[in-house]
Amino acid sequence: MNIHEYQGKEILRKYGVTTPRGVPCFSINEAIEAAENLGGKVWVVKAQIHAGGRGKGGGVKVAKSIGEVKQYAEEILGMQLVTHQTGPEGREVKRLLIEEGANIAKEYYVGMVVDRETQRVALMASSEGGMDIEEVAHNTPELIHKVFVDPNTGLTDAEGQDIARKIGVPEAAVKEASQFMQGLYKAFDETDASLAEINPLVLTGDDRIIALDAKFNFDSNGMYRQPEVSGMRDFDEEDPDEVAASKFDLTYIALDGDIACMVNGAGLAMATMDIIKLFGGEPANFLDVGGGATTERVTEAFKIMLANPKVKCILVNIFGGIMRCDVIANGIVAAARQVELKVPLVVRLEGTNVELGKEILNKSGLPIISADGMTDAAKKAIQAAKG
Ligand code: GDP
Ligand code: MN
Repeated sequence: MNIHEYQGKEILRKYGVTTPRGVPCFSINEAIEAAENLGGKVWVVKAQIHAGGRGKGGGVKVAKSIGEVKQYAEEILGMQLVTHQTGPEGREVKRLLIEEGANIAKEYYVGMVVDRETQRVALMASSEGGMDIEEVAHNTPELIHKVFVDPNTGLTDAEGQDIARKIGVPEAAVKEASQFMQGLYKAFDETDASLAEINPLVLTGDDRIIALDAKFNFDSNGMYRQPEVSGMRDFDEEDPDEVAASKFDLTYIALDGDIACMVNGAGLAMATMDIIKLFGGEPANFLDVGGGATTERVTEAFKIMLANPKVKCILVNIFGGIMRCDVIANGIVAAARQVELKVPLVVRLEGTNVELGKEILNKSGLPIISADGMTDAAKKAIQAAKG
């Protein structure tokens, strides 16, 4: 799960990490009022979308007067912001962050991820802040310094100071930089984060250390115990079909092809997409209906798949282990009737009560193409999609 920069900064402040003062805004008037209340002479108008690279795309502007705040807010709010992370269609900006301007002496990079190999949180820091860190890792990997944090001690002051010196933080700010990273680690650890990125972390003209940007990802499996963080979820930033699916405990990921897939189990769903591609077809989605596929959930799954105008055929691939094939078949029939199926439906059923399941499908009178085995199912679906 992702959150916006301003929300990430709210979390950081709770852990004693310094950020510029700022106000999230939803309209031009709010932006002007926020700048006036913040005071000072320089403000930064920042697009809030769940994607990085906003600066390069024109989504971060430094304003030197209230007039400029208004001008930039008008330009950015509602724009279709294109960055290397949004895809070519970009993302509509619906929220702004108005911040006090910072006096930047030097930009650094600080990031944290969960490292599977060491089973620890890896802190990465670099003197090359403000840039695309993937590029730094590729061209000058020696400029990225790492600490694998011992969960028993957390990030120690000695480790924090050491890495601060390695990235070239001047001595006068080393202590503050260490406290900054310790606060970041604590925030990361206590909120079930899976990624945190402060790019840039800034040294100001008066040797203070502040987080100028904040990107967080969280482990969705931990969100049940993080009500505050999950409350920050912004559904506007998520694929509406994926949001609809998650309400019914369906795992749905939209893809570019024309063969919709409904499968039980993530592994079988992956294998189904693979075999479609193997025979020259293109899956329209990944959809795992899970173990307890009720009629209601199967119906929802059909609705979501059919909402995609690219879909020319539906392939249902169910292995009835705990789930019985007759229950699934009844679900499919009821769902297909409810949604007025207009594309061919290929069904492959296997497992408990498979004969009964097939009989239900056959007797339904629905134009269902029955398949035996994965290969047959994939070939029939591809054929059906061709029309
Ligand atoms: P990103 O492009 O999505 O990563 O957005 P950032 O929040 O990192 O902003 C992009 C760049 O804008 C930063 O690397 C800074 O150079 C610049 N920037 C952001 N805030 C300020 C500020 O307060 N003052 C100045 N002068 N520049 C800023
Ligand atoms: Mn950034």
